[in-house]
Amino acid sequence: MRIILPSTAKARGLRFYFTGERCLHGHVAKRITENGNCVECRRDIERRYDESSKGRKTQRRWRESRKGYATKRRYHESKKGRATQRKYDRSRKVRARRRPRK
Ligand SMILES: [Zn+2]
Repeated sequence: MRIILPSTAKARGLRFYFTGERCLHGHVAKRITENGNCVECRRDIERRYDESSKGRKTQRRWRESRKGYATKRRYHESKKGRATQRKYDRSRKVRARRRPRK
């Protein structure tokens, strides 16, 4: 990855910069210009939140909301969403579950 200093990123209005230095948790990753957070750390925090009971509740509330439902529907009707669904339908695990062998 090319080195982009925080000052350069700020001047150009980039969302990320990269110094090549490790963060506190040992990631060598891009940093968010706005707050200097490492994107890998950010991802860990988000994953932990998504897996927590509070995060799951929040996700469920979003999915069941009008806006969440519309977003989900839009995705499923998109080319990418349909392709993902097709791939899922074709996967072995799902086929086995749908047509159990006697
Ligand atoms: Zn990190």
